[in-house]
Amino acid sequence: MTTGSQRIVIPITELEQSAFCRTDGNLRTLTLEEEFKSGVRWQKVPIRYLKMTPEELNASIASARETLGDQVLLLGHHYQREDVFKYADLSGDSYKLSRLASENKEAEFIVFCGVHFMAETADVLSGPEQTVILPNMAAGCSMADMAQSEDVEDAWEDLTSALGGQEEIVPITYMNSAADIKALCGRSGGIVCTSSNADLTFEWAFERSKRVLFLPDQHLGRNTALKMGIPEDEIIVWNPFVPMGGHTPEALRRARVILWQGHCSVHTRFTPAQVQESRARYPDVNVIVHPECTRETVDAANYVGSTEYIVKMVSEAPAGSIWGIGTEINLVNRLAKENPDKTVFCLDPVVCPCATMYRIHPAYLLWVLDGLMAGLVINAIKVEGQTAIDARVALRRMLDVAG
Ligand code: SF4
Repeated sequence: MTTGSQRIVIPITELEQSAFCRTDGNLRTLTLEEEFKSGVRWQKVPIRYLKMTPEELNASIASARETLGDQVLLLGHHYQREDVFKYADLSGDSYKLSRLASENKEAEFIVFCGVHFMAETADVLSGPEQTVILPNMAAGCSMADMAQSEDVEDAWEDLTSALGGQEEIVPITYMNSAADIKALCGRSGGIVCTSSNADLTFEWAFERSKRVLFLPDQHLGRNTALKMGIPEDEIIVWNPFVPMGGHTPEALRRARVILWQGHCSVHTRFTPAQVQESRARYPDVNVIVHPECTRETVDAANYVGSTEYIVKMVSEAPAGSIWGIGTEINLVNRLAKENPDKTVFCLDPVVCPCATMYRIHPAYLLWVLDGLMAGLVINAIKVEGQTAIDARVALRRMLDVAG
């Protein structure tokens, strides 16, 4: 029996995104009942999971994993809390995990400890006999929610008619978007990208047209375009809340890159002032940030790159080096722990995990594993019909371009 393949999207608010921010740096897992007090929306879960302590959850998850064995592949994104990440068979950023999902054809169930768009991608790329499970259906992504499919469909229609046809523009969507948006890109000559390969997909797009629509993260789009030498005055932002995105047809024709007005609430917390403060504290610091940060923060940093790039740079750095990092706190804490011979710290003094990733509490993981042991598939993620076919086209283009 399978439950919960659909979810109603109520965009995640900025308030919810900061619900788990802590000034005391304490990100210890509490019982689900206690964490429910944070004020974010959670998926309902049977009452017996609410009061289980982290230790009880730990023992039950370990035993469920043993019983289920190879039937289940557990994928863990780098931004997952440690109490969930430690169970991952395979870990990575969204690009690496999407590749791993497309390569593994053995496990019957893929339990994706990440967020909704990642589980959708795994479903699109996995085999027809495999089922992808997201432990908590409320684990969305505030950035992905900023590009609702009706708004993107409307914008695409407006843009192609103002510009004189689809051949005038190629849509690129960041992995962090719903399957509907990936499908629009697939059927409109576009492609998916991640922060590891955005520049390659821009090159791919410019071989096919003179213009790009980049969804939904304006910062990754802008940072990539500027890095490729596209002048600032040829980059504009499409505001989905005003007619024609707020532009005249002439301005649209002049633009080479049109950025959707979306952002990551976690990465836009990092500022040039934080970079300067870290330099004042440690004159030899290496500042490394994610390209979802603003352009000003990226300009102030020494290095910019994807989550996997950050992991590689810090892990391979010489002992004694100092790293100020601008990315999600669970990853920064893990890097600090795994590199005791280096000084590793988060640029932001306030500890703010990605509140949507954080919704994968160990109690939810246990709930879906208990379900599988009882023959019940809870929270299956299924991308249906033509949407899956079109989204797969755009994802395959990315995998072909990026290898
Ligand atoms: S870190 Fe930002 S982009 Fe990534 S899942 Fe969280 S809100 Fe979305």
